[in-house]
Amino acid sequence: MLRALLVSTYDLGHQPFGLASPAAWLAREGCEVSCLDLSKQKLDETQLASADLIAFHLPMHTATRMAAPVIRKAQALNPSARLAAYGLYAPLNADWLRTLGVQHVFGGEYEADLAALVRALATAPAGDPVLPAAPPAVSLAKLTFLTPDRSGLPPLDRYATLRVADGSTRIAGYTEASRGCRHLCRHCPVVPVYGGQFRVVQADVVLADIDAQVAAGAQHITFGDPDFFNGPTHATRIVERLHERHPSLTYDVTIKVEHLLKQRALLPRLRETGCLFVTSAVESIDDRVLAILDKGHTRADFEEAVALCRASELTLVPTFVPFHPWMSLDDYCDLLDTLVRLALIDHIAPIQLAIRLLVPSGSRLLELPDVCALAGVFDPTTLTHRWEHPDPRVDALQADVSSLVGRRLTSHRRELFQAIAELAFERAGRPAPSLAAAPPREVPQFDEPWYCCAEPNPEQLTLV
Ligand code: SF4
Repeated sequence: MLRALLVSTYDLGHQPFGLASPAAWLAREGCEVSCLDLSKQKLDETQLASADLIAFHLPMHTATRMAAPVIRKAQALNPSARLAAYGLYAPLNADWLRTLGVQHVFGGEYEADLAALVRALATAPAGDPVLPAAPPAVSLAKLTFLTPDRSGLPPLDRYATLRVADGSTRIAGYTEASRGCRHLCRHCPVVPVYGGQFRVVQADVVLADIDAQVAAGAQHITFGDPDFFNGPTHATRIVERLHERHPSLTYDVTIKVEHLLKQRALLPRLRETGCLFVTSAVESIDDRVLAILDKGHTRADFEEAVALCRASELTLVPTFVPFHPWMSLDDYCDLLDTLVRLALIDHIAPIQLAIRLLVPSGSRLLELPDVCALAGVFDPTTLTHRWEHPDPRVDALQADVSSLVGRRLTSHRRELFQAIAELAFERAGRPAPSLAAAPPREVPQFDEPWYCCAEPNPEQLTLV
């Protein structure tokens, strides 16, 4: 029987859907499937050495960088194993993955391609060096999904837990009701892979996955869809049924500002069905920058979304990319001032205030002449095109804010916000704002400090 090992290095503190879903597909092919989540489990050399196929799930930049030493180790320990990589960042980094010895790269809707690979491997003649390495495959096929098989993963209580307003904690599960996105935001890694399309996971599969996680102890579910309202009818049906089946289950979703405004009538229904918070990639409050990024919203839209969510008693968790080539020290101070004025400082994970724009391979940002002028060639160490800000004081502030957040990851959000504000306003030669204008708010938050869709610095994370 073919032995397949699925490996995750990092998934923002979630039990990885990206292992559980293909595990079900490969088991259906008759494979002996094992999962290794290196954010929670020690690297098991025996597993690496005994697998016929080792497939790495690469859903984000950080996970991809963290996979490099593990891929090298797999190849050294088990040179005859087939190595594959799949997930959003696999096709984006296909050339680099080839240099590490990865022979098969799958992006988009990868489950059927992984299943086809194990079928081909299983029928290859014994002792044959088998299939040649294949060109990267990005599939946007409409798959009929299987219920993810989570049996090979660490229990949910080992993953990030959610602290809610009353101070209690909730065991959190994670699922996906859709992948890809209808939109074409210029900086987004979903775009080069899905090209403005999204694909749904059938509602019955999503609900069966949620049922299984509730049976395993989940009290809260994170929907990891890039945008939950790409398909508002699909999304609404799922949360209605989720709430019927599990009335005390809470959940969170990610929805872009444009959809929060367009689907405002649905916001109360989200709250009524157990939605605790909505993450939204606001990215900037500068309309010029929002236009450059093709975000589809303005600063005024963002402020309206804040008001709409408050009116529906939904906590809005905005995320930002504050450091980019078009910002100044004053712009950064304006962002902090605005967060104080909108009483959002408790809503924001401090790492959000340190994020620097990533320019990965294939990014639409490289269509912009000013980005091309700033960005260097692709750097295989960082897996990005590195860029420097025209004003070195901005890069210095980013490095200092990042270091401050890295040193004080477990500090209270408000204290860290104050420290960042003092640093930034001092650099800009301005007095720091008083936080008195923003009364403290109890906001649900995960104990995984990076949970906010930020891309942590791999140097600040270690495999177990
Ligand atoms: S809406 Fe979100 S997921 Fe979709 S392209 Fe824009 S940033 Fe990416």
